[in-house]
Amino acid sequence: MPDIGLIRAFLEPHHGSLAGRAGGFAAGTIATRAEPADDAAAREEARALLGLLGAGEWLQPILDLDLRGCCLMREALGEASPLADAVFALQGLGTTPILLAGSQAQKDRWVGPIARGKVMTAFAMTEPGAGSDVSAIATTARREGAGYILDGTKTLISNAGIADVYLVFASTNPARGAKGISCFLVPADAPGLRFAGPQVLSAPHPLGEIAFQDCRLPADALLGEEGRGYGLGLATLDRLRPTVAAAACGMAARALAESLVHVKRRQQFGAPLANFQLVQQKLARMATDLAAARLLTYRAAYEKDQGRERITSEAAMAKSFATEMAQRAVDDAVQLIGGRGVLTSHPVDRLYRAVRALRIYEGTTEIQQLIIAGELLK
Ligand SMILES: Cc1cc2nc3c(=O)[nH]c(=O)nc-3n(C[C@H](O)[C@H](O)[C@H](O)COP(=O)(O)OP(=O)(O)OC[C@H]3O[C@@H](n4cnc5c(N)ncnc54)[C@H](O)[C@@H]3O)c2cc1C
Repeated sequence: MPDIGLIRAFLEPHHGSLAGRAGGFAAGTIATRAEPADDAAAREEARALLGLLGAGEWLQPILDLDLRGCCLMREALGEASPLADAVFALQGLGTTPILLAGSQAQKDRWVGPIARGKVMTAFAMTEPGAGSDVSAIATTARREGAGYILDGTKTLISNAGIADVYLVFASTNPARGAKGISCFLVPADAPGLRFAGPQVLSAPHPLGEIAFQDCRLPADALLGEEGRGYGLGLATLDRLRPTVAAAACGMAARALAESLVHVKRRQQFGAPLANFQLVQQKLARMATDLAAARLLTYRAAYEKDQGRERITSEAAMAKSFATEMAQRAVDDAVQLIGGRGVLTSHPVDRLYRAVRALRIYEGTTEIQQLIIAGELLK
């Protein structure tokens, strides 16, 4: 359960009760579910988890654009189940652009079913040739009559193959580079959209490629204005990066909790591991780094919730620091637990496989560092 003592100064009264309820739900309903055995099972489990999140109204902070609420949810879910956290995160990535730029008709059509967990979203930005450099997007959306025709390939897309609607970033004017990118709402059954196959991760996480060939879209598939897709995508990532940091904090908190239980119980050389100072040093560093990461995370979310237009630097600091911290904490936990820590059935091994991607998706650590330095040098 997220410990709100440290971050209380950044929260509103309703966040305290959300943290308690979310922690109870995550520990009681989510953490107790079995880890899927393979990719097909992970895909089924992701849909089941979305149903649970929708039925319990746990997606509400996304709809309320309550960033601190989203962080509390991701901290609780990250601690209990990285897959459940990913399901929540993707629903946020797919919904936020609709909330920020959608027409009333688009909101009326999509937001209710998304909130109830009936519609799963995906955020399709990355391409084989456009990773960190989003402006290199080569998928095109050319006008035909009142509508558009989409052609191209998206890779490393979470929820590919199981989503009901894809937010697709494509160029309506390749000559204008980033300023020619637009965003489209593409239902999974749109003719010309094909699930090109799964990309299987070491941790349960539905990922894959989608391809567009002569995919015809009506004019009202355009989200926001033509040429504003790049800005919308970056504004969405800017807003949601603190939630990646929060998920990392949840995973690190779980790693620390598992370590504490183990070092108090496990005896070697005639004493509990907890008695040895080299062990204590690891625990102290994990706890201190985790506290610092949580402060950066909730500082960024607080600033956004106060109405700041951009939190570019704060979000990048929170994301890069917290995800690097979580990687170290999980690695330390595996080390403290020893051989049992690398058994696939152990919670810290599951964390070890899950935490790695956080340093990569929604902008790598290096890209966050470039963003921070760019702001410093402005
Ligand atoms: C689990 C997972 C889920 C994902 N889900 C989605 C999704 O739902 N939707 C989506 O659109 N994408 C998704 N992605 C893709 C993700 O956003 C990209 O992997 C990420 O942006 C990095 O792009 P890349 O993999 O092409 O790496 P590259 O951009 O090729 O980078 C490779 C390395 O080079 C470094 N690098 C690149 N440029 C520079 C530079 N200028 N200076 C210094 N170093 C640099 C990077 O930091 C990195 O270390 C997901 C990825 C993963 C792993």
